[in-house]
Amino acid sequence: MTPVERFRELLSIPTVSRPDPADVDGDAFARFRAALERLYPLTHTHLEREVVAGHSLLYRWRGASTAAPLLLLAHQDVVPVVGQPWRHDPFAAVVEGDGPDATIHARGAIDDKGALVAVFEAVEEALAEGVVPRTDVWLAFGHDEETRGTGAREMARILAERGVRPALVLDEGGAVVDGAVPGVAAPTAMIGVAERGVATFDLVTREAGGHASTPPPLPATARLARAIDRLRRRPFPRRLAPPVRAMLATAAGHVAEPLATAFRRPRLTAPVLSAVLSALGPETNALVRTTAVVTRLEGSPGENVLATTARASVNVRLLTGDTLADAAIHLRRAVRDPLVDIELRHGDDPSPVSPWRGEAWRRLSRAVSDTLGGDVVPLPYLQLGASDSRFYTGLTDAVYRFAPFHLTRAERDALHAPDERIRVDVWLRGIRFYGALLRS
Ligand SMILES: [Zn+2]
Repeated sequence: MTPVERFRELLSIPTVSRPDPADVDGDAFARFRAALERLYPLTHTHLEREVVAGHSLLYRWRGASTAAPLLLLAHQDVVPVVGQPWRHDPFAAVVEGDGPDATIHARGAIDDKGALVAVFEAVEEALAEGVVPRTDVWLAFGHDEETRGTGAREMARILAERGVRPALVLDEGGAVVDGAVPGVAAPTAMIGVAERGVATFDLVTREAGGHASTPPPLPATARLARAIDRLRRRPFPRRLAPPVRAMLATAAGHVAEPLATAFRRPRLTAPVLSAVLSALGPETNALVRTTAVVTRLEGSPGENVLATTARASVNVRLLTGDTLADAAIHLRRAVRDPLVDIELRHGDDPSPVSPWRGEAWRRLSRAVSDTLGGDVVPLPYLQLGASDSRFYTGLTDAVYRFAPFHLTRAERDALHAPDERIRVDVWLRGIRFYGALLRS
């Protein structure tokens, strides 16, 4: 069997995450686990494996020394495909095109079986060559990253309890991309050194209720609508957070003047740079401010009944340096209405920031240039979404978020969307990256 055949088989098993654990097809995860055992026999002979929190998988590969280990993270679950117009069956893992154009279409092709299977390929290959890693290598593969993250939380707890202090933790996150930073012509490896916090706040208005035939001048729904609009008109302030400053300062060596000077001196140029980044598009806007968007509305249960409670859920993504308390203060100020309650439903503060210098960073950068291309520029960046990595930040300050795949804009847009896909050549290179990291 070839690596691609193994990859396709694992992609065809629908390990779909569901918000309600009762809806999860546990049998799919059991089959996925059995397929891993069959497809990677050396890995399952030489590594110790534990099944954690139902379906999460924690592996330990003992190294030659007791120095600080390497910890690689990925997740087995994928998001649902319901209602999405795919060109191919999302669990058929169809290979379209051939040669350098060959592309695998499947849910999870990138997020995150692309990384997970590439790690297995690299480990199995290293074992076949008799490699003994310099230090322990731990692999932690969650089963509900897309929903509750209970698997990752539990594995992180186990590792902490055993005193495992990794020298480097690597999870999914950024990729190798083109045109991510204005003025940089070379492809850049976007290595997440931090991720934003995630929270849901509810804006709630209440009134006595009554019949819809005799509405008050400002019913709860209208008061809520006004609050929503005020929030939209008053976004969080722009600023350059430390990971974004680091990205620009590192990119400065790869851009022409006067941009290079602007990137090198963010203290002076922050107002202009943050305004430009904000105007360039939603992705760069999210790098320079905490964002808030209303995702869900609730009002009256009946069409002829006044709402006694109207509620808007606001999804907030916190920039490094902002806290849940800061966000609540901003929402309060933006809404300007004491009769709108602001309730924190749940949330996490932003992650700590990992260093973009030092041994762990150098090790990642070397693996990038050795396997993904000597011209690829490793850049620290702020990851916009949340990943399982946030549960592991208590183990070490060297937590990074990067998948070793060179992806186009269209390919990145297909994450969680129809026609998720990865080019075969790109995926095979990713295996080499993990191989280099295991041997480093
Ligand atoms: Zn993912």
